[in-house]
Amino acid sequence: MGGRPLLNRRLAGLGTTIFAEMSAIAAATGAINLGQGFPDTDGPARVAEAAVRAIGRGHGNQYPPSQGVPELRRAVAEHQQRFYGLVRDPDTEVVITTGATEAIAAALLALLEPGDEVITLDPSYDAYAACIAMAGGVRVPVTLRAPSFRPDLDELYAAVTPRTRLILLNSPHNPTGTVLGPAELTAIAALAVDRDLLVVSDEVYEHLVYDGVRHVPIASLPGMGERTLSISSLGKSFSFTGWKTGWATGPAGLVAAVQTARQYLTFTAPGPFQYAAAEALRLPDDYFAGLRDDMRHRRDLLADGLREAGLDVFRPQGTYFVTADITPLGHRDAVAFCRELPERCGVVAVPHSVFHADPEAGRSLVRFAFCKRTEVLSEAVTRLTSLRGRPA
Ligand SMILES: *Cc1c(COP(=O)(O)O)cnc(C)c1O
Repeated sequence: MGGRPLLNRRLAGLGTTIFAEMSAIAAATGAINLGQGFPDTDGPARVAEAAVRAIGRGHGNQYPPSQGVPELRRAVAEHQQRFYGLVRDPDTEVVITTGATEAIAAALLALLEPGDEVITLDPSYDAYAACIAMAGGVRVPVTLRAPSFRPDLDELYAAVTPRTRLILLNSPHNPTGTVLGPAELTAIAALAVDRDLLVVSDEVYEHLVYDGVRHVPIASLPGMGERTLSISSLGKSFSFTGWKTGWATGPAGLVAAVQTARQYLTFTAPGPFQYAAAEALRLPDDYFAGLRDDMRHRRDLLADGLREAGLDVFRPQGTYFVTADITPLGHRDAVAFCRELPERCGVVAVPHSVFHADPEAGRSLVRFAFCKRTEVLSEAVTRLTSLRGRPA
């Protein structure tokens, strides 16, 4: 093999995710895992039953249509209209994917030429850097800084160059919990229109917004419907992260571009889950309100508990993550803190730096997931409180 590295230049440095390392530590030590963002209880029974029923009836057990089963494409289009007034044609403007992750990967593979620049909010979901790299693109991060974690619009404008192809947005934002507001969305939309940029908008936390804050898809702003690909999935909205059923909606040209790439990645998304997803998206409003209230309650439980434990807490407007600064505990390096935490008190969390292009940014910040049972969150808080007053 001539001493050549096995991993190609595009993937060099991507390594194993911190989530794998931290979840392994959690499993080995029996620590409470507030690291990886998956719920510890399953979603609605009737949605699970719909998947079982689909398998029993032979719905989707063989290759479904590559673009997704018509029932689900229609349900996705109805969902976009019901919640946001967005009108999309289920035949040409909706594509079903193997989770939101595949939609993001396919979009970047389809839309980027090597060297094209992609503006991202930083910190960001770890798949963005990897998918941009695999597509041969160049990531241009715009940093969201504590304590507000809001984008600096001047910085965003300054980040655009003649090589900028698209803005990869994520709101509600993982890991900070920021939900972009009307003024921010309007400014970003004006920038996209003015500089003729595409927007890929990852909205997997669309139903997890709190305190009366509203999620507004950027596709609903003037001039944006024709240049925005909106991406979401079943995982976070219905607590079935293992089903990996997602979708992208947008103008026919953008959807066709995604479909061109993804037909050669997975060809199609798992069939029975698509039928169950169609039922999930049609659940009545009280399901979505209940999910939100339930998660807000858990957010407050964890955020209040972390504050009691002496951390500096940033209460999120959306998602199921809370960020906290460990400086008041006498620590400065969140990576070291998170590595020791399972041993010291039996809790797993993730350092913000793994989400940052510049690992020095967010150095003392830690992300905790609150999509866990309330008794688990209470126990985690009790354990973390035991750190108070102990030497760093
Ligand atoms: C969890 C997550 C995803 C992944 O969604 P899947 O449907 O599981 O692929 C995408 N984006 C963000 C920001 C996430 O937190």
